Amino acid sequence: MQNIRPISFWHESIARELTQRDSITSDIESDIAIVGAGYSGLWTAYYLKIMDPNLRIVVIESHSICFGASGRNGGWCTGFLPVTLSELSSQHGRQAAIDMYRESFATVGEIQRVLLQEKIDCEFQKGGTINGATNVVQQSRVIDEVAEFESFGFTESDMRMLSLEESQQRINVNGLIASSFTPHCAAIHPAKLVVGLAETVERLGVKIYENSPVRAIHKNELLLDHYRVRADVVVRATEGFTSQLAKHRRNLVPLYSYMVATEPLSVAQRQEIRWNNRETYHDARNMIIYVQITRDGRVAFGGRGAPYHFASQVKPEYDRNTLIHNRIISAMHEVFPVTREVPVSHRWGGPLGVPRNWHPSVIYDPKTSMASLGGYVGNGVASTNLAARTLAHLIAGDNHPLTKLAWVNHPSRRWEIEPLRYIGVNGLLRISNQMDRHEESKGTPDKIRSKILDIFL
Ligand SMILES: Cc1cc2nc3c(=O)[nH]c(=O)nc-3n(C[C@H](O)[C@H](O)[C@H](O)COP(=O)(O)OP(=O)(O)OC[C@H]3O[C@@H](n4cnc5c(N)ncnc54)[C@H](O)[C@@H]3O)c2cc1C
Repeated sequence: MQNIRPISFWHESIARELTQRDSITSDIESDIAIVGAGYSGLWTAYYLKIMDPNLRIVVIESHSICFGASGRNGGWCTGFLPVTLSELSSQHGRQAAIDMYRESFATVGEIQRVLLQEKIDCEFQKGGTINGATNVVQQSRVIDEVAEFESFGFTESDMRMLSLEESQQRINVNGLIASSFTPHCAAIHPAKLVVGLAETVERLGVKIYENSPVRAIHKNELLLDHYRVRADVVVRATEGFTSQLAKHRRNLVPLYSYMVATEPLSVAQRQEIRWNNRETYHDARNMIIYVQITRDGRVAFGGRGAPYHFASQVKPEYDRNTLIHNRIISAMHEVFPVTREVPVSHRWGGPLGVPRNWHPSVIYDPKTSMASLGGYVGNGVASTNLAARTLAHLIAGDNHPLTKLAWVNHPSRRWEIEPLRYIGVNGLLRISNQMDRHEESKGTPDKIRSKILDIFL
């Protein structure tokens, strides 16, 4: 089927459920036109339609609905943001930081509510997240994070240290010396969520067009190769692909994240690794890893740290990277030795959208009726829902409390011009890797490199 190549394990497992939608073949008029049919675009369409069923809404997608990060991610539906409470507090004040995190945590429940209401089965299981440490520097980071949440008035019901026994009973992690637990995360099948959302909004009367790349976004107008879409409100929901739009090249840097999935574990392997509640797992190394166990018992293991491509290029051939995939497989073998016995069946990757200040945002200008949402870095699965709900209220102009959240109309400065961007981003990635190696071998913090990261991030 055109456009539905097996990008990832997720795509392959739903290939039969994917149908191809119309592309745009004439000029169109609409009330709301949304560019991008990932979670951001689809959730925006959903909440707008719930608020006003009469709205004419079109969602316009350059490829197919599961093409973007929403179809390929690690399936962590997490309430955590790429900005910490302290960072939010220093920029927006203490209460704004708390409000942002409270809403973000509640969003996991809101998603669960909609899934039940709309009968979307995306293998959602709210098993929480374990953050592990395998050396003393990571251990102090885990302890500091729990302390940070406490200092902002969050309680053990939001995040707590786990005893080693409890941790190992949940997931058997090699070399673990400490860990924390938060309930604010669910494991999902990401592509099933996209398909379920797309079908839900279509049932509500939204029209989704595929294979229809938008070339330029203007006030009240989108330009495609041969046609125009006119709309009262235009929404850009293009995340990691934003740099491909001429006027938006420096808004978000596309950083690639990569994943592998194993064959399903055997019963004996499953007994060894345990993992009966499908908790998501990561550890406190600098170069992020993220793991879930799928409903059919595969370890789906992801990692960041791939080099940034000059001039923010995004290409299908970047979806696989032998070096990074091999590194991820080594990390998986180290964290879960039992996976050495299990073949890796799938390897894939995709671009995240990273703003210069690492701070996601929801932007709406009532004067131009132009909107955008994104910059979630690697935490967009749940954040897209909160961002879309917020945007729907901004567009409705109903003064809803969500429209007061810290990320509303919070600008990020644009990324540097090339070659500074290339040198800077890849330099920082290299530093993060070197810090991990230093911490692992020396067991002490890498203060100099840490200082450099603090200055530039
Ligand atoms: C490998 C990987 C693992 C990840 N793991 C997690 C995780 O476990 N948890 C988590 O919270 N986040 C994770 N993320 C991030 C998360 O997936 C994203 O933040 C989220 O999916 C963003 O959704 P979106 O709709 O904004 O963007 P996308 O899903 O990328 O959708 C944007 C859509 O816009 C379309 N588009 C772009 N430009 C145009 C144009 N000009 N015209 C028409 N259409 C256009 C694209 O084709 C795409 O379909 C991961 C990302 C990746 C790549």
